[in-house]
Amino acid sequence: MLKLPIYLDYNSTTPVDPLVLEKMLPYFSEKFGNAGSKNHSFGWIAEEAVEHAREQIATFINSEKNEIIFTSGSTEAINFGLKGIFENYLTKGNQIITVKTEHKAVLDTCAYLETKGASITYLDVDREGLIDLNQLKDSITPSTILVSVMFANNETGVIQPIAEIVKICKEKNIIFFCDATQAAGKVRIDINENQIDLMCISAHKFYGPKGIGALYIRRKNPRVKPAPLIHGGGHERGFRSGTLNVPAIVGLGEACELASKKIWEESERISQLRTFFEQSLTEAGNAFINGSIRNRLHNTTNISFAGIDSSALIPEIKDIAVATGSACTSASMNPSHVLNAMGLSNDLAHSSIRFSLGRFTTEEEIKFAIEKIRNALIKLKK
Ligand code: PLP
Repeated sequence: MLKLPIYLDYNSTTPVDPLVLEKMLPYFSEKFGNAGSKNHSFGWIAEEAVEHAREQIATFINSEKNEIIFTSGSTEAINFGLKGIFENYLTKGNQIITVKTEHKAVLDTCAYLETKGASITYLDVDREGLIDLNQLKDSITPSTILVSVMFANNETGVIQPIAEIVKICKEKNIIFFCDATQAAGKVRIDINENQIDLMCISAHKFYGPKGIGALYIRRKNPRVKPAPLIHGGGHERGFRSGTLNVPAIVGLGEACELASKKIWEESERISQLRTFFEQSLTEAGNAFINGSIRNRLHNTTNISFAGIDSSALIPEIKDIAVATGSACTSASMNPSHVLNAMGLSNDLAHSSIRFSLGRFTTEEEIKFAIEKIRNALIKLKK
């Protein structure tokens, strides 16, 4: 029996995987110690769990363990990375380069830094959502201290050419920050292969709990040192004070290990479902996929239904949980800044819906969603 409503909003958040939850549970009750307590076994047990999770995350991205700093999620990690680099490297310069299609966590932090004297350059994207590497090269000046580009976009799934971006930054000795919130768990990320300097991940995007994430900070070639955002007891080597959320950290670690095990099988299964979904909805015409077809996350599809406003379509497909634009901005009626930057008209941007599939999406659910959407489109066209 099909359980309604159907969840096709995995880029917004994901359920905690039962295997992750099972590992977390003891740390709420019998293993409740403070990882900072050095004098007794309650503290040692908690600390051991935290260090095991740190190891799991390091393995997941192929980094060193001591390059992982726990945060409350990606928004905090982004604030920490961008503000922290700006503060500590201001003597070198004040320019930060980012992209118009970044998440609001990056864009709003950059807007804040502008009020503190930063000069922000916003790169354009083409119709496919991809940046132009020549524009990046041309934007770099002697005062550029940081380039911040997301791995994969939350609204379209478009994957930026990270290896090429890193190459350009390395040649000029510029620190590279990567928001990998949507990519983590969906594509393999190897910090050594990619030579990223700072990178954030967030557990709730890949079947871990909400309110926990991590910032990877490179310690060698070069050693990167952002100023701390949160001051206090000196936890996390002084980078991020505050008593560690042990159950959530255990959950993040397990989510990483599980994602590594499942990544190949899962990406193949989900991309097949997505292809079937897209083909079924676009074959009748008047529906267009937004974003690069070749460089895209396997689970995401952003579709414009020309002539149909998404605010009319969504009430007609109440049994399907979807998003228009980014989850964090869906309360506002402005058209998506991502689709606008890609050159879509306001009308077309307003007719777009993001569907994101995930670990628990079934073929039956996809067939049901296709049927529902097709019927709603026929009704609205009349
Ligand atoms: N960056 C991207 C690309 C996202 O999709 C999100 C969440 O929607 C964030 C950052 C913020 O992440 P968090 O919910 O962990 O603060």
